[in-house]
Amino acid sequence: MDALFPIAPPSPASVLQAANRLKGLVHRTPILRSTAADEKYSAQFFFKCENLQRTGSFKFRGAFNTLAQLSDAQRERGVITFSAGNHAQALALAARLLDMPALVLMPETAPSSKMAATREYGAQVLTYDPMTEDRQAICQRLALERGMTLVPPSEHPEVIAGQGTAALELLEDVPCLDILLVPVGGGGLIAGSLLAVQAANSNCRVVGVEPEHANDAQQSLRTGQIVQIPLPRSTIADGAQAQALGPLAFGLIRKHVEDIVTTSDASMVQAMRFFAERMKQVVEPTGALAFAAANAAGLDLHGARVGVLISGGNVDLPRYARFLAD
Ligand SMILES: *Cc1c(COP(=O)(O)O)cnc(C)c1O
Repeated sequence: MDALFPIAPPSPASVLQAANRLKGLVHRTPILRSTAADEKYSAQFFFKCENLQRTGSFKFRGAFNTLAQLSDAQRERGVITFSAGNHAQALALAARLLDMPALVLMPETAPSSKMAATREYGAQVLTYDPMTEDRQAICQRLALERGMTLVPPSEHPEVIAGQGTAALELLEDVPCLDILLVPVGGGGLIAGSLLAVQAANSNCRVVGVEPEHANDAQQSLRTGQIVQIPLPRSTIADGAQAQALGPLAFGLIRKHVEDIVTTSDASMVQAMRFFAERMKQVVEPTGALAFAAANAAGLDLHGARVGVLISGGNVDLPRYARFLAD
């Protein structure tokens, strides 16, 4: 098996290289404006719509950037990951486009629609019992047995570099942003975004947003070391339920982030409804996290040019309907 976590850290240059590698393969997603949002907060908002990215989230960027760099031998044996969410679909599609086998380990409790979508993109799905089995251990054993390369959802230099290309596109199109709001789960998206700001030579301040009940990254930033929080936590933001940052992401966050703020499930629902009603965008709870923080304590957006990463739009329709009807 190849090294799980290669040593070379991601850099601003690796985000620029990722952008070249991904050209024509990812959608350059639109940046939407909203007069209603601008007036409500006396700011100028620029919404980067990664809900419209291939597979419905920015995760395709990191997955493709990583898989595209594997050796022929690695490609032949394929890739493996653990994910119940957007990384699974992203990895599955990237593997199919690059013609390599993909295996995704999902909890047997995962929504059948997510398993079906991952299978439709061409991956093999194996399930495990999250109450009794350790997904990382199973994944490592399978990787070893089958010679597959493990591609984690965030803590990997080329995944981080790929995720950074969304912010890079935003900064190219809107050069003088003051603040960029980014949702934080495992920390890959914000780590890449911090590098993108450097790559673009921008003075934009990057603020991370977490659900208030899954604020491990905020605690880590405050205490100066990686804080692990227990499962299960209750938040509707299923894409931001990581228990802890990895060291690569934490190193970048600690050095470069302006702050990490939190927001409530109620604010996320409000943001989802705003996106649906005013901007005609289907956004999943975690995708609405960044904009939901516009009201957060300690965040002053008055008069600022604010980038918002709408990170994804994958939500089961019955669940989505319940959020809108609330
Ligand atoms: C994965 C994900 C996030 C969080 O990204 P990390 O790199 O894990 O911090 C946010 N939003 C959506 C929609 C996601 O799929």
